[in-house]
Amino acid sequence: MAGEANADCLFCKIIAGEVPATVVRETDTTYAFRDINPQAPTHVLVIPKAHYPDAATLAAAEPQITADLLREAGVVAAEEKLESYRVVFNTGSGAGQTVFHAHAHLLGGRGMQWPPG
Ligand code: 5GP
Repeated sequence: MAGEANADCLFCKIIAGEVPATVVRETDTTYAFRDINPQAPTHVLVIPKAHYPDAATLAAAEPQITADLLREAGVVAAEEKLESYRVVFNTGSGAGQTVFHAHAHLLGGRGMQWPPG
């Protein structure tokens, strides 16, 4: 069923506590933990607990959880005392998505270039 945990999904395993992660926040609908390969001084992944393969699929099925995700990214940014930051949803392998469970990258703590690579 849509949104159900996927036994083969790394991020579902992190939510279940089967794979360790450094958790920074948790709500009823979201989970936020530090990226294992940080690309900035702050690099936190904010994910829905429900399993959807990417952000667009999540947004179509679960608009409230999508709003929760964006709110949580802002809360983490505030807790990390980031004055400016970037929130990125890589969508599709051509854009660099490697884990097919929707997730926001919250990146901050250094200068950023535009356009991104
Ligand atoms: P994507 O490339 O799909 O946009 O982002 C996936 C992110 O998950 C990458 O930044 C990668 O470093 C991170 N990642 C991959 N495996 C693990 C893991 O086992 N633990 C954590 N905390 N992050 C991971």
